Amino acid sequence: MPLSTKILIGLGAGTATGLLAKLGGFDWLEAALAFLEPLGTAFIRLITMVVIPLVVASLLVGTASLGDLRKLGRMGGKTIGYYLVTTALAVTMGIAVANAVRPGARIDPDTRDRLAAEARLRVGEAPAIAQPSVKDMLLDVIPRNPLKAAADFELLPLIFFTVVFGAAVSLLQPERKRAVVTFFQGVNDASVTIIGWVMQLAPYAVFVLLAAVVARFGLDLLRSLLIYAATVALGLALHGLGTLALLVRLAARLNPVTFYRRIAEAPLVAFSTSSSSATLPVTMETAERRLGLPRSVSSFVLPLGATINMDGTALYQAVATMFIAQIYGVPLDLGAQLTIVLTATLASIGAAGVPSAGIITLVIVLNAVGLGAQVGPGIALILGVDRILDMLRTAVNVTGDLSCAAFVSRSEGSPAPA
Ligand code: ASP
Repeated sequence: MPLSTKILIGLGAGTATGLLAKLGGFDWLEAALAFLEPLGTAFIRLITMVVIPLVVASLLVGTASLGDLRKLGRMGGKTIGYYLVTTALAVTMGIAVANAVRPGARIDPDTRDRLAAEARLRVGEAPAIAQPSVKDMLLDVIPRNPLKAAADFELLPLIFFTVVFGAAVSLLQPERKRAVVTFFQGVNDASVTIIGWVMQLAPYAVFVLLAAVVARFGLDLLRSLLIYAATVALGLALHGLGTLALLVRLAARLNPVTFYRRIAEAPLVAFSTSSSSATLPVTMETAERRLGLPRSVSSFVLPLGATINMDGTALYQAVATMFIAQIYGVPLDLGAQLTIVLTATLASIGAAGVPSAGIITLVIVLNAVGLGAQVGPGIALILGVDRILDMLRTAVNVTGDLSCAAFVSRSEGSPAPA
């Protein structure tokens, strides 16, 4: 049985067990799940611990073996261009869905008044969430100390340093270059072996992770929150299975059904871990082994994507902003909606590939459209359903990264996978 099928069974069985515990009122089952939960956490840690060695080794080997720095520049341009365009498309889809469903508009007017009054009261207690400025976000890409960036799990500065270092290695005398590349090739291969071991545990880990989440949050959803969650899910499905499928067909020239079948493992692991960065080793393995993409492309496009490309997150931020505006009765005209396209694209780039990162940078979007006063109460409102939405949006984020890798690989002249 293929691993993705086993993971799917784990997901289904986990959800069913969680629901059983929640609906059946089985306290002992919830207690058992809480006891087993560390197993899921152990799985996430086991994959996460390989991220730094894998990203550094694989990106370094990738850039050092490109041979031609112009190729690196060209690939960088295409990758960033693709990421920006697909993210903007995702936000637009989010806005369209939120306008069509209007998830926050069905709320009882009384409740709305009460919520709005509460928000006004809380303006004084300024939100504790800091908003990073665009200038700082750009400067932070250059690390002061690459080892500290690695220790703090800051992938973007680490990627920056590794690409510069790899470009320098590519210009060394052949025997020096060979020594560096051979060493990092070994680091890379050992990391891949570890992932293979850890993935054997995936079906059991996702079972526990999901059962625990469903048992805890399953029913604590209010009606309008449920409609909001369904709106985000609808937008994500339309983007993940519609827009991206179209791009896979047109830009990467692949059959979308084959593409989705082959990559299934990566979004499934993303779904259960809620972290693009933690999923990265699986995403890279999927690109190389299942899609047959060249290492020089996947090792560059995917680590970058895990940190800056988040279609799902951007789409979710658009819907969340519209929802909060609708709940509080704040109208958002066309100009404000265009601002959402711009800021949600930036905010999703600024979000790290870790659980709940998207809800933090949502502050940028809310402030940009004049919802500063609603930041605290608005976020508190949607927090209850955020974990489930985080799982869904992370799966779309990773699918977007893989579609870009397939596109760049095709446009760089690599043969399409059979
Ligand atoms: N969890 C998401 C990711 O890792 C980021 C977010 O939207 O919170 O891709």
